[in-house]
Amino acid sequence: MQKYLKTKPLRSKMAKDCIFCKIVKGEIPCNQIYQDKDTIAFLDISPATPRGGHTLVISKKHYETLIDVPDKELEAMTRTVKKISKALLNLYPGLNLVQNNKKVAGQIVPHIHFHLIPRYEGDNLKIGYWSTYKYKEREELEIAERIKTLLK
Ligand code: 5GP
Ligand code: ZN
Repeated sequence: MQKYLKTKPLRSKMAKDCIFCKIVKGEIPCNQIYQDKDTIAFLDISPATPRGGHTLVISKKHYETLIDVPDKELEAMTRTVKKISKALLNLYPGLNLVQNNKKVAGQIVPHIHFHLIPRYEGDNLKIGYWSTYKYKEREELEIAERIKTLLK
């Protein structure tokens, strides 16, 4: 499992060709709805539901995935996610929080971000429902043990 843990430390906290770093620097426009010292929230350019409101919360510094972000900045991101979620849940009856890590999991922009996706009846989005599988004998115990070992 550990073989997948490859993250290159960046010399600068901004990545040259990163779209979201360009948004932070103001080189690419965005519909910004909030910012503080560590985070920015802006509307996703391609909302997942037709009434819009799909918001991205990003860290101002460039980190690729969740596990690359220092705890302090991740806490700041969580606070921003909660703040924006409150506003969105005032406007829409539901909300999904999505955070993709690595290409295989759907991460297109390699700069940590949370998706806040407003939900409502008839929005036609297939998220939060997935096919499920049954564990084979002992498989569940074994995978739990492998994960627990990596937590030590
Ligand atoms: P990911 O698939 O990496 O989790 O999500 C990246 C998201 O960034 C996508 O939903 C995509 O629509 C959004 N996005 C990509 N480029 C831009 C941009 O230039 N501006 C904004 N506002 N969103 C973008
Ligand atoms: Zn970046």
